[in-house]
Amino acid sequence: QAKASYPNHQANGNVPQNSFRDESLERRRMIAQQRKSLPIASVERRITEEVRKNDILIIVGETGSGKTTQLPQFLFNGGFSRDGRVIGITQPRRVAAVTVAKRVAEECEVELGQKVGYSIRFEDVTSSSTRIKYMTDGLLLREALLDPLLSKYSIIIVDEAHERTVHTDVLLGLLKNVQKARSQSMEQNNVGKMNGINDKVFDKTTSAWGFSHLKACRAKIPSLKLIIMSASLDARGFSEYFGGARAVHIQGRQYPVDILYTCQPQSDFLDAALITIFQIHLEEGPGDILVFLTGQEEIESVERLVQERVLQLPEASQNIFTVSIYSSLPSEQQMKVFMPAPSGFRKVVLSTNIAETSVTIPGIKYVIDPGLVKARAYNPLTGMESLIVIKTSKAQALQRSGRAGREGPGKCFRLYPESEFNGLDDSTVPEIKRCNLSNVVLQLKALGIDDIIGFDFMEKPSRMSIVKSLEQLFVLGALTDDYKLSEPVGRQMAQLPLDPIYSKALILASEFNCLEEMLITVAMLSVQSIFYILREKLEESRAAMRSFSSPVGDHNTLVNVYRASVEYLEKTRMAKSKKTTEKHLKKWCRENFINYRSLKHACDIHSQLRGHVQQMGLRVSSCGDDMLQFHRCLAASFFLNAVLKQHDGSYRAMANNQTVQIHPASVLFQTKPDVLFLHTLTGG
Ligand code: ADP
Ligand code: MG
Repeated sequence: QAKASYPNHQANGNVPQNSFRDESLERRRMIAQQRKSLPIASVERRITEEVRKNDILIIVGETGSGKTTQLPQFLFNGGFSRDGRVIGITQPRRVAAVTVAKRVAEECEVELGQKVGYSIRFEDVTSSSTRIKYMTDGLLLREALLDPLLSKYSIIIVDEAHERTVHTDVLLGLLKNVQKARSQSMEQNNVGKMNGINDKVFDKTTSAWGFSHLKACRAKIPSLKLIIMSASLDARGFSEYFGGARAVHIQGRQYPVDILYTCQPQSDFLDAALITIFQIHLEEGPGDILVFLTGQEEIESVERLVQERVLQLPEASQNIFTVSIYSSLPSEQQMKVFMPAPSGFRKVVLSTNIAETSVTIPGIKYVIDPGLVKARAYNPLTGMESLIVIKTSKAQALQRSGRAGREGPGKCFRLYPESEFNGLDDSTVPEIKRCNLSNVVLQLKALGIDDIIGFDFMEKPSRMSIVKSLEQLFVLGALTDDYKLSEPVGRQMAQLPLDPIYSKALILASEFNCLEEMLITVAMLSVQSIFYILREKLEESRAAMRSFSSPVGDHNTLVNVYRASVEYLEKTRMAKSKKTTEKHLKKWCRENFINYRSLKHACDIHSQLRGHVQQMGLRVSSCGDDMLQFHRCLAASFFLNAVLKQHDGSYRAMANNQTVQIHPASVLFQTKPDVLFLHTLTGG
C-alpha cells in the first residue's frame, strides 16, 4: 500500500534519517525533563495522600497534564502495589492503552510486559511481574467474569470517564458493587464471621457471585480503591454517582488559542482540510498540525492527497510530511506519531478523535477541526446499530482546539461557520443511550446480575433498548424463557470476546461441522480492509480481488483469501522460521493486493479464537466442499441481520424494513441474491 511511512517518507525522500538515531542517554534526560515539567508533577505528594485517604477519588485535569502516564507511577512509588497487587488503568480506546503503556515502560526504563504492561482484546502484554497494567474498559469487564471481585487489583483507575463509553458506564456500576463487596469481605473477615454475607450487595445476584465472594472472603482480599479520571471540568455527575465522592482538580497550563471559522459551510470537508493544511504550511510559522478526521479511509485519502500536492510545491516548501493514528493501525506504527519532526520539517498528524483527549502528541501548534466524528447510532425499535458521521459537541470542539495551546499560543481552524458552533449540542450523548446493549446485557447476566433494568447505571439506558437486547439474546438462545442465562449456550457466548451474533455462529458451527470455516470467517470479519485497490494499478488490483471472490458471498470470499494464503505457505514449504514465513506472506500479499497487516491480524485472532473454542470443548472440524452446511450455519446465526430483495429490486433489512444498499465492493453487488446477511451498516 502506498502509504507515507515515516521516517522513510515516500514523497520526501529527503527526510534526514540520522536524526532518528536516538542517543539513549540524551533521550532519558529529555524524558525526565518532560516529566518534571508536567502540571501533575508538582502535586505528586498531595495526590498520593488523597488516594490514601479516600477510597473513591475523582481526578479532573486538563488533557495533557500527565494524569494517564504519571498517576499510576506515583501510586506505584507510593507503595500501592507493595503486596503484589496490580494498579489497573482502563482506557476506552485500544490505541491509548497500547501507546501509553509503551511510553510509561520507557519512562520507567523497563521492558514492556514486565513491570508495566497492557492488555487489550486479542493481545496480552503482561506477566506475573506486571504492577501497572493499562487495558481497555471492555477487557476489565471480561476479567470480572473470571474473577468477580477483581482480586488482583489494589487500585482501579477508570480513565477518560468523560468519554462515557458503554463499557465505562457499565464498569462504573460494577466497580461500585465490587468495592462494597471487598470492603464487606474485609469487615466480615475481621470479626471472623463467614455467614450472612449475601445480603444487600448481592440481593440481585446469583449464587455464582455469592460463592466466589465467600471464597474471596477466606482469602482475605483487601479493599479496593477507585479513581475516576476525567478531562471534563465538571466532576459533579461522577461525584454524585459515587455518593458525594471527593473530587480534586489538577491545574493545567493552557496558552491562548485563536479560533478561526470558515465564512461558508463546506460541502467537502476532506478538500477543505487539505487546503487548510497547505495554507498553514505556506503562511504560518513553524509548528505541527493536527487534523481530526472521521476514520481510516478518510485519513488514507488525505494522506495520499497531501503526498501528491507536496510534489507540486517548490522544493524549498516540500518540508512537510504526514503521520497518522487510528485504532486499526498496527501498534508499531502508532508510536510514530510521537516522534518529533526532524528540524526544518513540519509534521501533519492525521487522527480520528483518538487525539481529542486519549493521547497527547507533543509539538502541535495548529489544529484543523472539520467538526465531525464517527459514532455509533442505534434504533431501539429495531435493535439495529450503525456507524454514522455526526457533528461534534461543543465540549468536543473545545477539547480539540485546546490541543493547539499546550506548549505555546496556537490556532484552531474550524471548518464550519461560527453560527454553526452555536448550534452544537453542549456535550455528547453517552454511548449507552445510542448503542445495541446485547453484549453488555449478556455480560451482566453472566456476572449473575439478572435485574438489568434495576442495575445502578450512572445514566439509565432506555427501557426499550434493554428489552430489545433481551429479546435479541433470547432469540439467539443465550437466555432461557425466564430471561436467565442459558446453559451451556448463554454461558459459552459470554465467554467469547465477540459480539453475541458471532459467538453464536461459532457455537452453532461446531454442530454444523463447519467450525473451521466459521473461525476463519469471524476472524476475517474482525479486521478491516483485507483488500486494497491501488489507483496506479487499478485493473490488476481488481483482478486480484476477483480471483478470490466467490459468487455465493463475501463470507466465502474471505475464507478463500485466508485459505489461499495458508496453502501458499504450505506449498512453498519455506516456512522454516518465523522470519521467512513472514517474508513469504508479505510477498504473497503484495502480489495479491491483500493488506498484509490486516491478514496477519486476522491470523492472530483466528488462533486466539481457536484456542478459546477448543478450551470450551467445541469440536473443530471442516465441512470441506459442502458449503451448504456453512450457509445453513450462517443463516442460523446471522438471521437478525437478514436483508430481503423486494419486487422492485431494492433491498430491505428484515429487522426494521429499512431500505439498504449493497456496497459496491461486495460480490453480491453483481449477483443480487434474494436474501443476504449484512455485516456493517454505514450511512449518513
Ligand atoms: P493526560 O492523561 O493528563 O491527558 P498524559 O499523561 O496522557 O496526559 O500525557 C502527559 C504527557 O506525556 C504529554 O505531554 C504527552 O505529550 C506525553 N506523552 C504521552 N505519551 C507519549 C509518547 N508515547 N511519546 C511522547 N510523549 C508522550
Ligand atoms: Mg489521559
